[in-house]
Amino acid sequence: MKAVTIERGASEVTVRDVPDPTLGSGEVLVRTLRVGIDGTDREVIGGTHGGYPAGEEYQILGHEAVGVVEDPNGTASDTGQLVVPTVRRPPPGTDTNAYFQRGEPDMAPDGAYVECGIAGAHGFMSEYVASPAEFLVPVPDSFAEYGFLVEPISNTEKAVEHALATRSAFEWAPETAFVLGNGPLGLLALALFTQDHGPYERLRRSYCLGRRDRPDPSIDIIERLGATYVDSRETPVPKFPAAHESADLVYEATGHASHPFEAVSALAPNGVAALLGIPDDWEIEIDAGRIHRELVLENKALFGSVNSNVSHYESACESLERMPEWFFDALVTDVYSPDEAADAFADDTNAIKTVIEFDTL
Ligand code: NDP
Ligand code: ZN
Repeated sequence: MKAVTIERGASEVTVRDVPDPTLGSGEVLVRTLRVGIDGTDREVIGGTHGGYPAGEEYQILGHEAVGVVEDPNGTASDTGQLVVPTVRRPPPGTDTNAYFQRGEPDMAPDGAYVECGIAGAHGFMSEYVASPAEFLVPVPDSFAEYGFLVEPISNTEKAVEHALATRSAFEWAPETAFVLGNGPLGLLALALFTQDHGPYERLRRSYCLGRRDRPDPSIDIIERLGATYVDSRETPVPKFPAAHESADLVYEATGHASHPFEAVSALAPNGVAALLGIPDDWEIEIDAGRIHRELVLENKALFGSVNSNVSHYESACESLERMPEWFFDALVTDVYSPDEAADAFADDTNAIKTVIEFDTL
């Protein structure tokens, strides 16, 4: 079958024939429909994040997928069911561990998991995927086109759950959110924060940081979502409160190394900043005393969040159903065939979310 891969030592993707998956006990065969591309895939290709499956000369890329059950192989899955696979798996040679047994693989430390398409395991950019049934989240047929967004949305669902947990000891009524980063992860988070629903119901104003000139399709999306675009070249993060207002919730999705520390001064008292970006090593100078003092004297919180579990996928499905159709049309700028994978990964400032389509429902 055809797969989009990164060969050991290469810096560009290759489309190659790989062996068809063989199904182990409890494994389901999934026919891949669409696989999204994000900043993490580029970091994997660049060699700054993740790593190859042990003993393999290549890695199949892709961790944001939607597909359809082709062969349930004796599991409770139904043929024809649309599914989204989760990303983490127990390490090779192990069936499970305490994190997976608790349904919290997203909290597993390094060494207790591999990540499909990212770290130590093949991903989903192939015509077929074999996956244990327990790692497939059923989604409605209406998700055939945009169900691959469930995975990146689930990362934000997790981050928000943890943000709320850090503030759960007192009455917290967040009114303003500041998303750092206008890439796909930031824009998806902004689409959640601007929903008048659940934890976002009381959010009155949202802002999104970028460093692009107008006209730019990501700025159009920010404004159409009802949020305010903040250009970091004019308003660096520490100047945000003076230019606009302090934020109760900061969501960092730039991977820019100074942003976590600058976010502390962008926060309102009692605010919380969720960090999701994954930078390479990057040394900067900071006033550690000031940041430390502000965190303490203003009861602020700063935490990191990675990956997500099935409960976050389920919340993401509900959130995705509430997102307007225009948002998907604007966010998903390019759909490529597997043979065009090199183009799909090429840098294009007008592209926001790029997807590889293997098949349709
Ligand atoms: P992108 O690289 O596509 O997006 C990052 C965005 O941040 C870009 O639009 C970039 O702008 C913008 N940006 C970077 N630096 C600045 C700056 N100084 N000022 C203003 N804007 C800036 O990645 P994604 O959206 O896919 O993901 C974001 C980050 O989150 C990545 O590091 C990724 O690895 C990580 N990630 C983490 C997850 C988790 O679970 N923790 C899940 C998924 C992704 P421009 O394009 O103009 O340079
Ligand atoms: Zn991702």
